Amino acid sequence: MRLDGSCHCGAVRFTLESAHPYPFNLCYCSICRKTAGGGGFAINLGGSNATLSIDGRENVRVYQAMVRDPGEAHPHQSPGRRHFCGLCGSHLWLWDPRWPDLVHPLASAIDTPLPVPPERTHLLLDSKASWVQIQSDPQDKLYPGFPEESIAEWHQRLGFA
Ligand SMILES: [Zn+2]
Ligand SMILES: [Zn+2]
Repeated sequence: MRLDGSCHCGAVRFTLESAHPYPFNLCYCSICRKTAGGGGFAINLGGSNATLSIDGRENVRVYQAMVRDPGEAHPHQSPGRRHFCGLCGSHLWLWDPRWPDLVHPLASAIDTPLPVPPERTHLLLDSKASWVQIQSDPQDKLYPGFPEESIAEWHQRLGFA
């Protein structure tokens, strides 16, 4: 489906085609929580980077977080590029050169009504803030780290792709 998105102030608008638009993937990592997840998590969707069209690109800024993998002595800069509005701070999408054909818009930035997911995935719970209570349904899946299942595979399993 076609997704239309925007930042809060309207200086950045974007559209893209998404084969994987269900907002089921709740990430509790500190980057998502601090940059885009005031309630304790952020939700990424899956879309086609080739179809991404941006109005107000001059207002877009990019954040690459410093991350430290388990067993790594020093942090390194994540290749993942988090795009946000430089005027109002809304986080808009993630693009990672390791998967250049994909783009991951934040559900919070999408204006198109999204389908309601019948089950959700809660990931990176090892990084969850202590005050955040997991609001999960019985059919939800909970992971301390990353799930095996990709966003695309979730949609395939449930018959949405
Ligand atoms: Zn803005
Ligand atoms: Zn995250």
